[in-house]
Amino acid sequence: MLNGKIAVVTGASRGIGKAIALKLASLGADVAVICASNKDKAEAVVLEARAYGVRAEAFLCDVSDFNAVGDTVKAIKEQLGPVDILVNNAGITRDGLVMSMKEEAFDSVIDINLKGAFNMIRHCTPMLIKKRCGKIVNISSISGIMGNAGQANYSASKAGIIGLTKAVARELAGRNVCCNAIAPGFIETDMTQGMEDSAFAQQIPLKRMGKAEEVAELAAFLVQDISGYITGEVIRIDGGLAI
Ligand code: NAP
Repeated sequence: MLNGKIAVVTGASRGIGKAIALKLASLGADVAVICASNKDKAEAVVLEARAYGVRAEAFLCDVSDFNAVGDTVKAIKEQLGPVDILVNNAGITRDGLVMSMKEEAFDSVIDINLKGAFNMIRHCTPMLIKKRCGKIVNISSISGIMGNAGQANYSASKAGIIGLTKAVARELAGRNVCCNAIAPGFIETDMTQGMEDSAFAQQIPLKRMGKAEEVAELAAFLVQDISGYITGEVIRIDGGLAI
């Protein structure tokens, strides 16, 4: 259980982040729901979370903006208290072949997916260290493990998340802070809408796409005491796609 813990989930207005925020709330954690612009959806997640009897607040923040993240983390500390759990889930895709990819498409994906996770870790870590107990979960992707044609920017950002996870795990282990990554395959969300019948999806050994709730179960495992001896790990949840 996570009673009395304060969890921050980025990209929690919908999809995987929403499922994670609600799962952590169902286990008793107070949750900060961060998203980029979908205030109404974030507020709806907050109401759903509060139904579990926990505190929940929504925050609009572009995770790629270092100073905005600093201000948001400060506001979370003031409104909910010092953070125990950080889930870096916010992410975007801007797919295209590398030979024609615009510089802006590369930069925006790296800035949100990779630098966004760094920004959050950078501003939350002092609180985690002070408590001498904490959990960071970063959402990577099997694209970061295998590489995916048409996703040079996204694959690079998600491979970067794996390096970031391992370095942070080594750096914070002495303070009893664990940092792990989850690498989903094809999960049914807005991001993968219309891809159900793609050639890639048809190669999934378990012959179906994953559900956001299944990723949330794994995230919940990684932020609870039961997984306290796991750090610096990358766990695939992909129906076997990257075997
Ligand atoms: P999604 O449904 O498209 O939701 C994306 C979330 O990220 C939304 O809450 C969005 O907020 C937020 N976001 C986007 N840009 C942001 C920014 N600059 N600052 C703060 N928040 C921002 O995505 P998803 O499918 O649930 O994916 C969640 C994570 O899992 C991503 O990191 C993705 O790369 C990863 N992943 C997904 C899959 C999959 O198959 N779906 C597979 C592997 C990995 P708004 O609602 O305000 O836009």
